[in-house]
Amino acid sequence: MTIYKYVCSICGSENVRRDAWATWDVETQSWELATVFQAGFCDDCGGIASLDAIKIDRMKARSSAAVDSFGANGGGRIF
Ligand SMILES: [Zn+2]
Repeated sequence: MTIYKYVCSICGSENVRRDAWATWDVETQSWELATVFQAGFCDDCGGIASLDAIKIDRMKARSSAAVDSFGANGGGRIF
């Protein structure tokens, strides 16, 4: 299975979000994601940004997680 990460198209940060609507589900007693909009936001740029989907493989994803757990600061980010 191919997995993706979303990054800011301007600064490459993974600290990004999208606008969405949630609807209340009585059965689960929680808010369920209903719709995800195209508008993106980058916390590092501090504003609206377009987001790029980057294909990653699971082995690299695991090794970068291991690097992060050792305290690497901003490992893998592109500035
Ligand atoms: Zn950014």
